[in-house]
Amino acid sequence: MGKSSHNDGRLFVISGPSGAGKGTICKKLLESVDISISTSMTTRAPRPGEIDGKDYYFVTVDEFEEKIANGGMLEYARVFDNIYGTPKDMVIKQLERGRDVILEIDVQGGLQIKKKMPEQAVLVFVLPPDLTTLRQRIIDRGTETEEVIDKRFNEAINEIKLIGEYDYYVVNDELDDAVYDLKAIIMAERRRVPNK
Ligand code: 5GP
Repeated sequence: MGKSSHNDGRLFVISGPSGAGKGTICKKLLESVDISISTSMTTRAPRPGEIDGKDYYFVTVDEFEEKIANGGMLEYARVFDNIYGTPKDMVIKQLERGRDVILEIDVQGGLQIKKKMPEQAVLVFVLPPDLTTLRQRIIDRGTETEEVIDKRFNEAINEIKLIGEYDYYVVNDELDDAVYDLKAIIMAERRRVPNK
């Protein structure tokens, strides 16, 4: 079959409010689906246990801005007073090899990807079962102050309002069910008949 575009892999954008459980779902998904996950770059300080180059590339604001100036970011956005972004090289390389890639990014970033790469982008929104559960999950992380918890909760409400821009949603009540649903979405996209 002829190659219709310069890259054949799909970009699965996974967004949803902080505390919805995106990270846990994606980690579990990797046990049964062959797919790459992009490592983002951030100016945020590492949380205890986070590893540079694995959880994120932790950089200074100067380093981040230099990367933007060099055209090295596929998308980036300011989230909770820090900058987060997707380094371009790895993602493009994987797509060109025909591999699907997951971007676990916020809604602002997801919309940039949708606009920039409409052929490859599949946008999936992860929802918490309800807002009380969401707030509790943010608190349970235990690494945030009361002020940050409130900020993240309000931000979450604003993000959920943009769900209409997304292609699919997954509700993270039972983890296994959410992973099952995300896997079903990925498998369905892989069996889509290409555009003529
Ligand atoms: P956290 O600080 O909890 O790891 O992440 C905060 C938010 O930043 C989450 O909503 C997460 O999805 C988002 N985020 C992480 N990496 C990226 C990225 O590369 N680009 C964008 N736009 N958002 C990101």
